[in-house]
Amino acid sequence: MSISNEEFFKKVVAHCKEYGFVFPSSEIYDGLSAVYDYGSRGIPLKNNLRQYWWQSMTRVHKNIVGIDAAIFMHPRVWKASGHVDGFSDPMIDNKDSKKRYRADQLIEDYIDKQDAKIQKEVEKASMRFGDSFDEKKYRETNPRVLEYQAKIDRAASVLKEGLENDNLKMIKDFIVEQNIVCPISGTCNWTDIRQFNLMYSTQMNATDGGEDALFLRPETAQGIFVNFLNVQKTARMKIPFGIAQTGKAFRNEIVARQFIMRMKEFEQMEMQFFVRPGTEIEWYNQWKESRMKWHLAMGIKPEHYRFHEHDKLAHYANAAVDIEYQFPFGFKELEGIHSRTDFDLSRHQEFSGKKIKYHDPELNESYTPYVIETSIGLDRLFLMTMCENLKDETLDNGETRTVLCVHPSLAPVKAAIMPLVNKDGLPELADEIYKKLHLDFDCFIEEKDSIGKRYRRQDAIGTPFCITVDHESLNDNAVTVRDRDTMEQKRVAIAELHPLISSKVNMNILLSKLD
Ligand code: ATP
Repeated sequence: MSISNEEFFKKVVAHCKEYGFVFPSSEIYDGLSAVYDYGSRGIPLKNNLRQYWWQSMTRVHKNIVGIDAAIFMHPRVWKASGHVDGFSDPMIDNKDSKKRYRADQLIEDYIDKQDAKIQKEVEKASMRFGDSFDEKKYRETNPRVLEYQAKIDRAASVLKEGLENDNLKMIKDFIVEQNIVCPISGTCNWTDIRQFNLMYSTQMNATDGGEDALFLRPETAQGIFVNFLNVQKTARMKIPFGIAQTGKAFRNEIVARQFIMRMKEFEQMEMQFFVRPGTEIEWYNQWKESRMKWHLAMGIKPEHYRFHEHDKLAHYANAAVDIEYQFPFGFKELEGIHSRTDFDLSRHQEFSGKKIKYHDPELNESYTPYVIETSIGLDRLFLMTMCENLKDETLDNGETRTVLCVHPSLAPVKAAIMPLVNKDGLPELADEIYKKLHLDFDCFIEEKDSIGKRYRRQDAIGTPFCITVDHESLNDNAVTVRDRDTMEQKRVAIAELHPLISSKVNMNILLSKLD
C-alpha cells in the first residue's frame, strides 16, 4: 500500500524521534520552535555526512584548505556584507488569526495555485483531445489558461518591483486586491508589511548600548572572506584555490516549517573558491558539475535532483543556481552555487581599510579575486538522507520491515554484534569481537530480544552488518554475518570480519568516485 507524501513525511519525523536521530529541543518544556537536537544515532550520521563533504573538499582537492572561524565576528563585518541593511524578509500579520507570514511566500503560493489551475485545464484538454492534442497551441490560445497566466505574470512582476524598490505597500495592495486570505482565519484582514531582519543580536560586554552589539553569524561565508589573506599567505595558496568551512549559523526564520528543513540554528558547509577575474563562469560551471557528482555518488536517484537557475540575481552575483531535491513536500533548495564576483572581498577592503589583493605571479599583476561559492545546509542534507533512504519493504514471508538504505559508509552503526543468548560465554566472545572492530568502525552490541527483532531494529537505523555469535562460534571461530540490503546470511571467520566490513563502509568508496 502506498502512502501519501504527507504521511510519508510524518513517518520520517516520527522515525527520527523513535530511533534517536533527532528530537525537538527542550522537549520536556514543550520544545522550542524550529530548534532541534541530534540524538545518539543522529550524531554519527550527521558527522559522517559532514566528513564526506569535508574530505571531498580538502582531500580530493589539493588546492582547497579548511578553516574554523568564530561565530562572533566584528559587527562591521555584517555592515560590509550587506546583512545589516538587506538581510530581511517582508512580514505581514493576519489581524484575526494573529499569525505571521512572509508576504513574498503568500504571493508565491498564489502563483502556485494559478499554475495548478493551468495544469488541470491542460490535463482535462489532453484527455478530451487524445493524440491530436497540441499542448503548446492550447497554452497559447485557451482563454482560461491565458487568464491564469496573466495573473501569474502580474503577481510575479508586482513582487519583483515591490521588493526591488522597497515598495511594500504595492505588495500589500496586491494581496488585498486578489483577496489572498490567511489559511487559518480565512480572512483578508492584514497589517501593513514590514521588513524583519533575520539576524539575532547579542552583547559583547555586560554593559548595554549599541556600540558593542554583536550578531550571531547568519552564514559561515564571511569568516572565510575576512581570513582570505591569512589563509592564502600561511597555506601558501596560489589562485585558483578554495577555503572550506563547516559550522553553525543562526537565522530568525519567522515561518519555520518542515522539521529540520528550516531551522533557527543550523549548520552550513560552505566553500569559497577564489579565481582570476574573467574565469569565474568557467569555474562556476565546473563546480555545478562537481557538486552534482558528489550528490549522486551517495546513490541518490538522479531524478530526485534538479538545477534551478536564478532568474533574479543578487546585485553582486553574475550567476547563481540551486541544487533542489524532491522532498516529500516538493522540490526545494538543498544547496546553492553562486558566482559572487569580487563583491565580498572589495566590501571588506572598503570597510576595514585594509588592502585585500592577490599578487598573481604568472600575470605579475595584483587584483581582487572573484569568488565561486558552494553552500549546503547539513541539516537539510540530513533530512534528504532520511527521506531518500527510509523504506518500508514487504518480505517474501509476508512480513514487513522498515529499512534505512543509506550508503554503508554514512550509516551511524556499521556493525551490530549479537550474542545469540546471554550466557555460555557468548557475551564474552561478542565483547572480544567488539574490541577487534570498534576503533575502526562504529559498532554496537545488541543483546535483547529475538534475533529477528534485533535485525529489525538495526535495519531501521541502517546498520549494514549484523554479526550473530552462536555456540558454534566458540568452536569454529566464525560468526553469521547478515547483510542489510540482501538479507543474506553467511558464515565468516572472525579474523575476516575487519576486511569484510572495511570493503563496504570505507568513506574512500565514495571519495574515489569523485576523482
Ligand atoms: P531558503 O531560500 O530556503 O531560505 P537561502 O537561499 O536563504 O535558503 P542560503 O543563504 O543560500 O539559503 O544558505 C545556503 C544553504 O543553507 C541552503 O541551501 C540551505 O541548505 C541551508 N539553509 C539556509 N537556511 C536554512 C535554515 N533556516 N535551516 C536549515 N538550513 C538552512
